[in-house]
Amino acid sequence: MTGRTRRWVLSRGAVVTAAAAGASSLLSTEALALPAVDMELVLLAAQVDPPKADTGLTPGASTHVIEVERALNAKGLLASGAVDGHFGTSTVSAYAAWQRSLGYSGLDANGIPGPTSLTRLGEGRFTVSRPVSTGSRTDTYGGRRVNTRTRNMLAAADGMLSWSLTLSQGSYTSSNPSSAGTHDGGGVVDISVTSLTTTQRWETVRALRTVGFAAWLRNPSQGDWPYHIHAAAVSDPDMAQAARNQTHDYYFGRNGLASHAADDTPSAYRVAFTWWEKYQRG
Ligand SMILES: [Zn+2]
Repeated sequence: MTGRTRRWVLSRGAVVTAAAAGASSLLSTEALALPAVDMELVLLAAQVDPPKADTGLTPGASTHVIEVERALNAKGLLASGAVDGHFGTSTVSAYAAWQRSLGYSGLDANGIPGPTSLTRLGEGRFTVSRPVSTGSRTDTYGGRRVNTRTRNMLAAADGMLSWSLTLSQGSYTSSNPSSAGTHDGGGVVDISVTSLTTTQRWETVRALRTVGFAAWLRNPSQGDWPYHIHAAAVSDPDMAQAARNQTHDYYFGRNGLASHAADDTPSAYRVAFTWWEKYQRG
């Protein structure tokens, strides 16, 4: 590369000029490779960053987030000062505006990248690696509505247990995804545990966490509910904001309730933070 300078003009229909002293050959198509944005890491930041009190970055994700933010900035949807690698509320709002500009509404304009909107945003700027898709939104598990990604996760967790998962609530339970309910969007389920022993309940939490759910055993002292497990599929692009905020809590070892108290799960039933696609890679 000595003696050669390249200038990248990062705009739609990207142009690369190579002022190559003494170099006569054109740069090959491969040399013009666009940066790859890891959708899994962008989604991770989009869940973990917004509730932060500061503009702290999510380790590993910020270089991918900043490509997304540069693209939003180039489209006039995000201020330059917010192009910082932190997928905070400004970036969520800007991304939602991008989705609306594509004609999307409702869950498709929730400010969280889906594979189609992210690929469109990257045209001429970046490629998308490790795309995350929900699959059908009208799949079912145990008679409750979930998306296909969630169904596959539940099946994997179920397969680790010698009892069966029984859902008491599914996902997409409201037609208004902007409301506060955690089950309004995708990826969120409740598991009935009334027939399980205490140990079985915790083992169910562990199985759900192993495949990538933010899952907690809820007890009657915490709210107006019976014992049950509330589980949110980490990085489901359809998650309602309230559920994304619970993922933030889970990431930081808290309980996902209004108190944001420490996770009360015994250490023997905890696993390292993960998500479905990462779990599948092993
Ligand atoms: Zn729930």
